[in-house]
Amino acid sequence: MDGVLNETTNEIHKYEAGSSDFRTHCGATSHVSHDELRLISVERAISDSSATKCARCFENVPEY
Ligand SMILES: [Zn+2]
Repeated sequence: MDGVLNETTNEIHKYEAGSSDFRTHCGATSHVSHDELRLISVERAISDSSATKCARCFENVPEY
């Protein structure tokens, strides 16, 4: 699953599929500079960067 990592807060958001921008499910990154955002798989962000899952993006998604 694709995610958008906010490198400042180290929080991983769910990437809105089909978006050409860093658009996320919760919309929290819409005002964040693109310099602080990285497109990365959710699994990798958590294992490599110990990123925290955004509660709003993942509250209804099963653990994986
Ligand atoms: Zn989010």
